[in-house]
Amino acid sequence: MAAATLTRLSKPYSSSLSHFRRFISSSSSSSSAAISSETTNPPSSPFTFNNTTALSRKDPKDRNVQWVFLGCPGVGKGTYASRLSSLLGVPHIATGDLVREELASSGPLSHQLTEIVNQGKLVSDEIIISLLSKRLEAGETKGESGFILDGFPRTIRQAEILEGVTDIDLVVNLKLREDVLLEKCLGRRICSECGKNFNVASINVKGENGNPGMSMAPLLPPSHCMSKLVTRSDDTETVVTERLRIYNEKSQPVEEFYRSRGKILEFDLPGGIPASWPKLLEALNLDDYEEKQSAAA
Ligand SMILES: [Zn+2]
Repeated sequence: MAAATLTRLSKPYSSSLSHFRRFISSSSSSSSAAISSETTNPPSSPFTFNNTTALSRKDPKDRNVQWVFLGCPGVGKGTYASRLSSLLGVPHIATGDLVREELASSGPLSHQLTEIVNQGKLVSDEIIISLLSKRLEAGETKGESGFILDGFPRTIRQAEILEGVTDIDLVVNLKLREDVLLEKCLGRRICSECGKNFNVASINVKGENGNPGMSMAPLLPPSHCMSKLVTRSDDTETVVTERLRIYNEKSQPVEEFYRSRGKILEFDLPGGIPASWPKLLEALNLDDYEEKQSAAA
């Protein structure tokens, strides 16, 4: 079984995955021991990413995975990244969350961020990188090993800066056929009372021209939310299509950056979570890892 799944992996990153497999089959104690209790705190300036020695580069066999998740809005990237993080015992670091946390805190960048957000401006690379750097350094101090990044890098410049400070083993590019993605985005609903998210789209695409069909069940609300569902004003076909166009335009150079380094794993989601999760584990050569984990639990 393992041999069969290995053949699906292309050569460039199978070596880092074999390091990873060696890591997961061995005890994790060596990785935490590698982190000195005397790790010094990063300088207090909010822009410290020039200090590229702040993060230590470890051999992949001595640490957990350092992965990036790419995927357009609505693809479910956060869900898959978060599930894999729990499975592998690494933090799921979403840059959107870092910005929200900083805004809610009295951190050094919160004032600046509030102004940017109030003026409707985009948060600059410098700020995002500074927040991410701070998060990674804090994690390293706490003894975290590895990470799954979600929402970063978004530009070539961010990818280059990231490459300057740490090693990325693998970039998982999650993809979903565009007609399905659009339908899914248009099916999003929020309960105006409790604020929970649902999805009323019931996707059932028949297979044709050798392409497999696809079905995704809706995520329906309990009856007490049903009559209070609202659609976000920016979930219209025009806005969603434009959002996808902009995403594709911006993400292609980033994908190409990692493709040229042999680090990208293209993954076409075959459906919703029940259909996609086992396939994703298989593609990542983790299908028997989950079984081992649950057997050990
Ligand atoms: Zn509700």
